[in-house]
Amino acid sequence: MYYAAPIARLVEELGRLPGVGPKTAQRLAFHLLFAPREEVERLARAMLDAKEQVRHCSTCWNLTDADPCEICANPHRDGSLVCVVEEPRDVVAMEKTREFHGRYHVLQGAISPLEGVGPEKLRIKELLSRLGGGEVKEVILATNPDVEGEATALYLARLLKPLGVRVTRIARGLPEGGDLDYVDEITLSRALEGRREV
Ligand SMILES: [Zn+2]
Repeated sequence: MYYAAPIARLVEELGRLPGVGPKTAQRLAFHLLFAPREEVERLARAMLDAKEQVRHCSTCWNLTDADPCEICANPHRDGSLVCVVEEPRDVVAMEKTREFHGRYHVLQGAISPLEGVGPEKLRIKELLSRLGGGEVKEVILATNPDVEGEATALYLARLLKPLGVRVTRIARGLPEGGDLDYVDEITLSRALEGRREV
């Protein structure tokens, strides 16, 4: 045993976080051990608060602490325009461009036969029922530029076009195989601007 048991547990838990290897876990653990008690309490409280207070918006399925979320509740956002993304972090990426003033729909993933994710596991039913209201005129498919994202966009385009709504796909030119949130803001706002009807 290299560490006292409580330290070993802390290193182990920190090491479970994405992107945190054993070295970083150890560095973080020692940082916390020597940090003032208030700092450690603030961190623990922030983690628990986020866990307890954040849920999904029942309209767009983004993460929120109020339902409907701030974007769905904002009367200045254009309700005729819905941007479909895979994950909540993609909403953050789109918002950073400051170019999009419509609303979102977060699918909670992408179609992936290899991982056993079929359309029924995504928030597609919920998207269809939003379109039933008649307010939405254009759906922008902003799924990731990878195999799953393209398959999902194709599936949605086939499903949505017969409903009489305009369906567009953000422009190609995004780095292939990447996530939306790895793309810089200028590239993403160009992709949004250059969207084409599908
Ligand atoms: Zn919402």
